[in-house]
Amino acid sequence: AAERLANKIILITGASSGIGEATAREFAAAANGKILLILTARREDKLKSLSQQLSLIYPQIKIHSARLDVSEFSSLKPFITGLPKDFASIDVLVNNAGKALGRANVGEISQEEINGMFHTNVLGLINLTQEVLPIFKKKNAGDIVNIGSVAGREPYPGGAVYCASKAAVNYFSHSLRKETINSKIRVMEVDPGAVETEFSLVRFGGDAEAAKKVYEGTEPLGPEDIAEIIVFAVSRKAKTVIAETLVFPTHQA
Ligand code: NDP
Repeated sequence: AAERLANKIILITGASSGIGEATAREFAAAANGKILLILTARREDKLKSLSQQLSLIYPQIKIHSARLDVSEFSSLKPFITGLPKDFASIDVLVNNAGKALGRANVGEISQEEINGMFHTNVLGLINLTQEVLPIFKKKNAGDIVNIGSVAGREPYPGGAVYCASKAAVNYFSHSLRKETINSKIRVMEVDPGAVETEFSLVRFGGDAEAAKKVYEGTEPLGPEDIAEIIVFAVSRKAKTVIAETLVFPTHQA
């Protein structure tokens, strides 16, 4: 894996916590630090401290960390075209930024909350992909890893908008893979089951009790378990695409 990942430029959205952060760590480890990471999210302080930690462990690593809100669509093009020269020729895009709402029956959530989920999970992902694709097309290479969810395959009550957003990600991934089938661009999707991250805390508006209940009686995955799958998929031979992976904790129904 280290050889195939060497000197790759990896852009990760939502790298300030959870799966995105773990994915940054996993790429760095798998490449023994011989990698370039573009770490993005809205919380710049978190990105800074992650960058500092990784730079201490891997003196060779190159990191560009910057605020990027994927739901601010007009900022995406300037972000990609304005990347520092060393980081401009992206090799891997990990579309990970996402959010859900707890207790989100359609009749009970606001228009702002509905739109917020779609703007981040779906439209941000699609718009950013559109900005990165020309880079991939130009060199006829590049990997896109979209983070979907089991929720996009198995809807649950109270999750109509989130489930719909992740189903949209799933169909976007499938369709884009077919669109790019005659190129060396690979489109992959990783769909996690229950993973213990800040996700539930955000989902329940900071209510730690409610967040904890989500994982009660189960042994959830850690973000590093998903990161491992993402890095595994990206580091396969160019002729192999792990198009779709559903990853559950062993005992999740
Ligand atoms: P976290 O809440 O820990 O991470 C979400 C990340 O997304 C954060 O880094 C957050 O950073 C970022 N983010 C949220 N909104 C935006 C935005 N508008 N623009 C840019 N970044 C944003 O949760 P996870 O790591 O668990 O979630 C990562 C992905 O995994 C999501 O797509 C989620 O839907 C998916 N997933 C998670 C599961 C789970 O059980 N945890 C299960 C299935 C899928 P910041 O706030 O700094 O912007």
